[in-house]
Amino acid sequence: MNKYEALKKYFGHDSFREGQEQLVDSILSGSDVLGIMPTGAGKSLCYQIPALLMDGVTIVVSPLISLMKDQVTSLIESGISAGCINSSLSQQEYRDFFYDAEHGIFKIIYAAPERLDTPDFLALAAELKISMVTVDESHCVSQWGQDFRPSYLRITEFIEKLPCRPIVSAFTATATETVRDDIIRILKLRDPFVMVTGFDRKNLYFGVVHPAGKYQTLLELLKKYPDKCGIVYCLSRKNVEEVCQRLNEDGFSATRYHAGLSPEERSSNQEDFIYDRRRIMVATNAFGMGIDKSDVRFVIHYNMPKNIESYYQEAGRAGRDGESSDCILLYSPQDVRTNQFLIDRSREENNELTPEQAELVYRQDTERLKYMTYYCTTDDCLRRFMLNYFGEKQSEGCGNCSVCNGSFELTDITLDSKKIISCVYRVHQKGRAYGKSMIADILKGNSSEKLLALGFDKLSTYGIMPDYTLRFIRSEIDFLVSKGYLIQTDDEYPVIRLSRSSAAVLKGQQTIEMRITKKLPKAEKKSTRRAEDDFYAESGLFRELRDLRSEFAKKEKVPAYIIFSDASLKDMCRKLPVDINAFYEVSGVGTRKAEKYGEQFCGLIKRYTESHPDEEKAPAGEVSYLEKQLASYRENVAVKK
Ligand code: ADP
Ligand code: MG
Repeated sequence: MNKYEALKKYFGHDSFREGQEQLVDSILSGSDVLGIMPTGAGKSLCYQIPALLMDGVTIVVSPLISLMKDQVTSLIESGISAGCINSSLSQQEYRDFFYDAEHGIFKIIYAAPERLDTPDFLALAAELKISMVTVDESHCVSQWGQDFRPSYLRITEFIEKLPCRPIVSAFTATATETVRDDIIRILKLRDPFVMVTGFDRKNLYFGVVHPAGKYQTLLELLKKYPDKCGIVYCLSRKNVEEVCQRLNEDGFSATRYHAGLSPEERSSNQEDFIYDRRRIMVATNAFGMGIDKSDVRFVIHYNMPKNIESYYQEAGRAGRDGESSDCILLYSPQDVRTNQFLIDRSREENNELTPEQAELVYRQDTERLKYMTYYCTTDDCLRRFMLNYFGEKQSEGCGNCSVCNGSFELTDITLDSKKIISCVYRVHQKGRAYGKSMIADILKGNSSEKLLALGFDKLSTYGIMPDYTLRFIRSEIDFLVSKGYLIQTDDEYPVIRLSRSSAAVLKGQQTIEMRITKKLPKAEKKSTRRAEDDFYAESGLFRELRDLRSEFAKKEKVPAYIIFSDASLKDMCRKLPVDINAFYEVSGVGTRKAEKYGEQFCGLIKRYTESHPDEEKAPAGEVSYLEKQLASYRENVAVKK
């Protein structure tokens, strides 16, 4: 069997994705590798295929029990014999594992890092022919990564105790150079082949909304996904509780996750979500690591997170199966303050660091928060903004984010800018400097006690923007700061100051345009692919296939996406297979799944097409009913925009 045959036979895919083939080839040629690819890019295949093709066993070290269970179930479903060893096994399961492993049943063994240097496991490892040790989520070895796990440091010792050094392959989605160097150094990779693929996730739509009322906006957004799964991230436990409760009261099927819940409740809520018993997960950032649920169709951030790294990681949990999914951030200036408060607090509370280190961390965190805020207020393509942040230069706008899709209106704010800057100037002339809120209050003409006490109501710029909301004035100030026309200091109480470019605006030498949200991105332009996706996902056949998939999932007690991904179901709608051979052509269907499920799914498709004769697949060369409908659907979409 070669790699292409393995790809189709076990995983049902026709071609490799970016980076996969090079990694597979390098491993097969005997080289250590380090694969750095974004979430959902398909890192698992990069070690699973070589594991199948090489002699002997591959040991995969993985940080979380839930992740392991999922991967092993999924491999078994695909007809690959795999097992796992971790602290969740009962005594019987533990004995079974060793019995099977000693008898050469497993091709791939998943192990928790703590298990590696136990006497039982070391004895087993000495018996087996171990062709490769794979370290998944390998950023966990680095103290600079987001999820440092001391037990990961034992991996190297384990490898060194083996009679014969296997190939070592490591994978992660974390791209910073420090972490990358740490992985190579700590795992002692030998002259590894390093593959870094682009960070772009083309199937994800990115959007920022500046809502007047967050909860109302959340409800409106959720209506767009009537029966899809998704995550709503909040900044605090309290928010999680509140939002989850309100959603349930409003008839949504939501559950919750945060560090304040008991471990039992956390894991049972997590399972409810993974097994589709609850459709919406409301959570803090404690939720997500180790979630491989591939059909998460939306990730909505109810609050802005603390930095772009966290945002991209959390948002990236959408659409792992490569299908179109949405990542929407609900921004409010209060989020900036809350985050700043958390950063301040952690500076005070963190007594493991020296004062210098603490200061450094504080500065970095504050700087990162600034970029996160820019993301929420930028008029640049959101995807380009993030990729640039990660060091990938993009020249063109992406056409698949709320900025590119014109849910914003380019508005001339030159006059507003002059007013704002002269207000900062007037305050400065009085020998004072204040934050955004005070400046906005002056411009609006508010009469707070403090403002009056300072005599700011006497300034010539007092009350010159009476018809604007404070929120809007503040967002204009944010914008001017992001463009460098004003400066916001990094102090504990940031104040607004003039910059070198301020004068040019006052002198009228500069035209300033800002994109202003029109409201919710409603009738937004859909890409053809998106239109096609939605079309299939909304078809009656898709729903019936999905129900059949749920039946199997319940019977076998596995999550539905492990049986077939949404991508596979859509491909079935597209290809309408009615016999096993045709079924095997569906993306994501390998031999094992074709044998196991082919008859039932083909049966359903046959019955469906017979009872909906109009939708029957047309003879080769002719356009089928479905395709015709699709064409008119596309036209409709085109007309609407
Ligand atoms: P990662 O570990 O990089 O986050 P996974 O290995 O979990 O990603 O894969 C994510 C999804 O991509 C899975 O649903 C998998 O079936 C799919 N996938 C991986 N490789 C391919 C491929 N070559 N063609 C189509 N789908 C793929
Ligand atoms: Mg993975």
